[in-house]
Amino acid sequence: MTVENKVVVITGASSGIGEATAKLLAASGAKVVLGARRNEKLEKIVTDINESGGSAVYKVTDVKNSNQVNDLVEYAIKEFNGVDVIFNNAGIMPTSPISALHTQEWKEMIDINLMGVLNGIAAVMPYFTNQRHGQIITTSSVAGIKSFPGAGVYGATKFAIRNLMEVIRMESAQEKTNIRTATLYPAAIKTELLNTITDSSALNNMSKLYENVGITPDSVANVVKFAIDQPEDINVNEFTIYPTRQV
Ligand code: NDP
Repeated sequence: MTVENKVVVITGASSGIGEATAKLLAASGAKVVLGARRNEKLEKIVTDINESGGSAVYKVTDVKNSNQVNDLVEYAIKEFNGVDVIFNNAGIMPTSPISALHTQEWKEMIDINLMGVLNGIAAVMPYFTNQRHGQIITTSSVAGIKSFPGAGVYGATKFAIRNLMEVIRMESAQEKTNIRTATLYPAAIKTELLNTITDSSALNNMSKLYENVGITPDSVANVVKFAIDQPEDINVNEFTIYPTRQV
């Protein structure tokens, strides 16, 4: 079981980790199906991949909308005759202290980082159950295994992902399907993610960290490829990805 010829649906594919992963997997022979909200970004990435000899399509998708996520998966099946992997990667990180009460951002994080992932899982699960195999890869965060001031709600969404993914792994084993899971816990990865922070002191702190130690999203893309490349009876399940110099 390798990446080659696998059909991989990627959410949050218009920048950062999702873009790097789409490019790496396509260069390794996967057929990639990109979803995110920004049409122009997706169009350019898909054109670049196809001009380099890869196979890629895209559909503008807001992961908050379950119908749009279902459509993305159905588009993958229509274009490439199936779906093997979903990479639930779309996310936002408007960190702030709880006392600042950025309640609209709390809701947005729950809707995108948690409900968006559930929408991805619900979209593929009928196909994976029917075909008795598939792989669900989801981007959590180091804020999903450790608590950080400022990341109360962001971390809550990412901790929730950890539980969700582990339960899917266990249920899949009980149900004797070959549905594999992998959860990613990246630390400081230089992407557009900090643009989602509106709280100035949170942004200031994070910007310094990312400038000092941040690494490229290729680091995470390599891990996704590794997880997909494993034999079907092996479920490499959890990965932390730290810059070597991040405490
Ligand atoms: P980016 O901001 O570069 O990428 C986020 C992606 O998510 C974009 O493609 C964005 O596209 C997409 N997105 C956001 N909201 C939605 C939505 N409602 N529907 C569909 N797509 C959406 O940051 P990263 O690449 O860093 O982020 C990817 C994931 O990695 C996130 O889940 C993030 O929490 C996680 N992560 C990142 C870390 C880092 O240090 N960078 C560390 C730990 C975890 P668009 O705006 O076009 O919709």
